[in-house]
Amino acid sequence: MLTAAIRSTFLQAQPQLFPTLAICGKIASRQFSTTALRPMRGLLYYGRKDVRYSEDAPEPMVKNDSDVKIKIAYCGICGTDLHEYLDGPIFFPKNGAKDKISGMKLPLVEGHELSGTVVEVGNGVKNVKVGDRVVVEASGHCSDKARYKGSVKQVKEYCNSCKKGMPNICRDMNFLGLGVAPGGFGEYIVYGADHVLKVPSSIPIDVAALVEPISVAWHAVENSNFKPGQTALVLGGGPIGLAAILALKGHKAGKIVCSEPAKLRRDFAEKLGAEVFNPMEHKNINADLKALVPENEGFHASFDCSGVPATFATSIEALSSGGTAVNVAIWADKPIQYRPMALSFEEKHATGSMGYLVKDFEDVLDAMDKGLIPIESARMLITGKVPLANTIDVAYKNLIEHKESNVKILVSLTDEPTDI
Ligand SMILES: [Zn+2]
Ligand SMILES: [Zn+2]
Repeated sequence: MLTAAIRSTFLQAQPQLFPTLAICGKIASRQFSTTALRPMRGLLYYGRKDVRYSEDAPEPMVKNDSDVKIKIAYCGICGTDLHEYLDGPIFFPKNGAKDKISGMKLPLVEGHELSGTVVEVGNGVKNVKVGDRVVVEASGHCSDKARYKGSVKQVKEYCNSCKKGMPNICRDMNFLGLGVAPGGFGEYIVYGADHVLKVPSSIPIDVAALVEPISVAWHAVENSNFKPGQTALVLGGGPIGLAAILALKGHKAGKIVCSEPAKLRRDFAEKLGAEVFNPMEHKNINADLKALVPENEGFHASFDCSGVPATFATSIEALSSGGTAVNVAIWADKPIQYRPMALSFEEKHATGSMGYLVKDFEDVLDAMDKGLIPIESARMLITGKVPLANTIDVAYKNLIEHKESNVKILVSLTDEPTDI
């Protein structure tokens, strides 16, 4: 949780220090007033440094047999949301363009790490019913275009990735809350039933909002063909690195080591059950990491959640023979140098991971329900809860300025008390 000092700093923040935030905090005018749409509260993305709290965002409606309408409880703020705010549009459609999956245009409600309760379903929905507590696998791909007939060109044939059962790397892939449809920083969403999963009663609704980011890490662990009892190295202790520790616990990992220079983040990693390593205190980082595994063997799998050339090299060098390095970080799209023979000499593997599948959500919910990912460990990732109206001026600012002391801030659409 945030300390009282940090909290009061933000409450008293000088607007001149954050001129862009002062602009963005304004309340949007009645952009959507039509007789057909009911207004709701929502945080609308218009473009870079222009995200507006509105009490007049259009409430999405059930239009298809496969649609599920969800009243949002909580929605986590993701690094991607901050990137869209600071540097976007990245995933959001640019310059008046339409989203490739849905044909929707800006402004749209942000947010994709959500939990809530089903309030309405289309006639064909079988997997959830009104009143169910749910989470949403937030990707959009070829098969989703059918729900937006009339708005987007329909495909005769799915793309090669979708045909191969890899919709997470669909040619037109995007996410709810990032362009496909209005997201979780609003009172309601409508999305396809095949993306909606019921939450077991053992999982509180705030912790359920973490299922999405933990599923990102879960997919990465699946891509390493991880086996119970194996050893793992996590490079970087930010939100996804910490989620990787939980996903590895869910896979019954043996030793997990987290390498992270920032003390606050190492402390989080340690609380989640990882052994921690400060790379700033070591000259021979790769050798010293390998030495943490008996007989200097190195790790069965490594997860680069930092995305800098040094961590990429370490993710390969610190592996045991035959081990697998998974790049989970999002990099600037440019080349770096690395040593190919580091792979060949010991037949190591290097791969990447992108997003998630519905199966990853099912596995994370199951691991939480069975206690393999303890609820109280997952809850440690929640470092604050903010009311919707304060999301930009308080929470975004907090995450941008005090990155290290925060893991996940949840936007609350509930009546429960918030703390920032
Ligand atoms: Zn996210
Ligand atoms: Zn596709």
